[in-house]
Amino acid sequence: TPVLAVVGRPNVGKSTLVNRLIGRREAVVQDIPGVTRDRVAYDALWNGRRFTLVDTGGWEPDARGLQAVVAAQAEMAIRTADAVLLVVDASVGATATDEAVARVLRRSDRPVLLAATKVDDDRLTSDTAALWRLGLGEPHPVSGLHGRGSGDLLDAVLEALPETPRDDVGAAGGGPRRVALVGKPNVGKSSLLNKVSGELRSVVHDVAGTTVDPVDSLVELDGEVWRFVDTAGLRKRVQTASGMEYYASLRTRAAIEAAEVAVVLIDASDPIAEQDQRVISMVDEAGRALVLVFNKWDLVDEDRRIAMKRELERDLVRVPWAERVNVSALTGRSVAKIAPALRTALASWDQRIPTGRLNGWLSDVIAATPPPVRGGKQPKVLFATQAQTRPPTFVLFTSGFLEAGYRRFLERRLREEFGFTGSPVRISVRVRE
Ligand code: GDP
Repeated sequence: TPVLAVVGRPNVGKSTLVNRLIGRREAVVQDIPGVTRDRVAYDALWNGRRFTLVDTGGWEPDARGLQAVVAAQAEMAIRTADAVLLVVDASVGATATDEAVARVLRRSDRPVLLAATKVDDDRLTSDTAALWRLGLGEPHPVSGLHGRGSGDLLDAVLEALPETPRDDVGAAGGGPRRVALVGKPNVGKSSLLNKVSGELRSVVHDVAGTTVDPVDSLVELDGEVWRFVDTAGLRKRVQTASGMEYYASLRTRAAIEAAEVAVVLIDASDPIAEQDQRVISMVDEAGRALVLVFNKWDLVDEDRRIAMKRELERDLVRVPWAERVNVSALTGRSVAKIAPALRTALASWDQRIPTGRLNGWLSDVIAATPPPVRGGKQPKVLFATQAQTRPPTFVLFTSGFLEAGYRRFLERRLREEFGFTGSPVRISVRVRE
């Protein structure tokens, strides 16, 4: 989803406005480890379109002085967001700090919107007009108190944010399939992207019928064009300064959500890290297809190979279904195996099992291994249907509760029968009285 960063001085009414914009009840505070409390991301929804709102917190002066803090935050917002919303208190007017941040924002190529808060009555309309001089276009008057104006502001926000696919990714058919290339810093993401777009034909403009978002790269792999999403940072090799990790994590999440399949790049020369596992979990939770690519294979010796085998068994238990490919972005070794793995994962992600076949298989499994008895009763599994693809989602109708262990057993058997290599599978149970 596209990202909107909200910046503003303390006490301008930013939090009140943010709560209005996200409709407090629907707000989900994303739980990203290591996040400073004063910077949070919310999932926002307006007119059927989703976006991520990042509240950058108030500018508290530190040793560098207020102006420096403000400029740094504004720059961070520009680098990481698709659009920036500057919040100014109309009853106070533009302060020197507001002007300093406006200067930074004016230089950026991202769309910038200006919200004038505390416009609680018409008396303040002229104060709002005074904010034109910040050079950021029309000030949008809002009253955090009454909520007045926030709808118009949201309309303007959506207009400024790049269009993203509504609802189901990829459902609108056609166009290259979308790939997220993610992984912790220094695993070789830029190197791999450069390798594949350097050796193979990099086609940025000439794919018929596709609009190319400037942050995405179209890359030809194995005779097929793929759309690597959100690669602007990788291409430009943006230096990741301290304090940027949180944004990097946000971008990772956004890229995964914008993609159909994620390539999680792992440094094979180092022990599998918790951060690797976190990225893998993000893919699983987002319900996207997954390919694990172990990079820097040129550095792997026999000892490392043995250690890795243990780590794989211990650390990747969550995703035993993921395909693994070992490559070296440096030498180009086995890079050609990535495309076939992507195809397998996507085929699983798209796969639909006909209801007849599904239920034939299910009754055999249940006859051989019935669900455990609970409270003296034997729950009956009545039938199953595949409610969705992308990822494959099954609904089991039962006469009673099915234990988590039994559900996992069914998923294992389902995978044995139908494959689903490279794709998460969801099973939900509906109890019929
Ligand atoms: P990113 O942060 O994930 O984009 O990682 P980079 O592409 O910047 O790579 C980080 C470092 O790892 C650089 O010094 C690369 O030259 C190095 N590197 C990347 N891929 C390989 C590889 O396959 N083998 C070796 N030996 N080094 C690699």
